[in-house]
Amino acid sequence: MLDHEMIHYLTSRSWIQPQSEGGCWLWDDFVNRDGYGQFTIYHPRKRTCYAHRESMRAHGYDIEGLSADHQCANKNCWNPLHLELVTLAENTSRAANKRWGLYRRLSELSIRNGIEGVK
Ligand SMILES: [Zn+2]
Repeated sequence: MLDHEMIHYLTSRSWIQPQSEGGCWLWDDFVNRDGYGQFTIYHPRKRTCYAHRESMRAHGYDIEGLSADHQCANKNCWNPLHLELVTLAENTSRAANKRWGLYRRLSELSIRNGIEGVK
């Protein structure tokens, strides 16, 4: 599939919601268990694609061997301006930091509310 065809395909399949939610382009077709927008193309061969990765590729980024890290909170966003290409190691480390940040926020919340032992 050519780049402009992919961009047309992504646009035609998705609900673009400009401005609201920080300009995210939300994928409203199939979203997988991890929260990422997904679709399947059948030409030249059957392939399952992530909307955010294909969007970066179609917009001219070389994504081979790299992860596209969402700078916004929406995993199903495919706006290339909201994505940053990082190494797999960097992405894993960022994900761990995000989980740690969530854990800390939950812990602080439960301490404030007098709840002990959040796991
Ligand atoms: Zn976004």
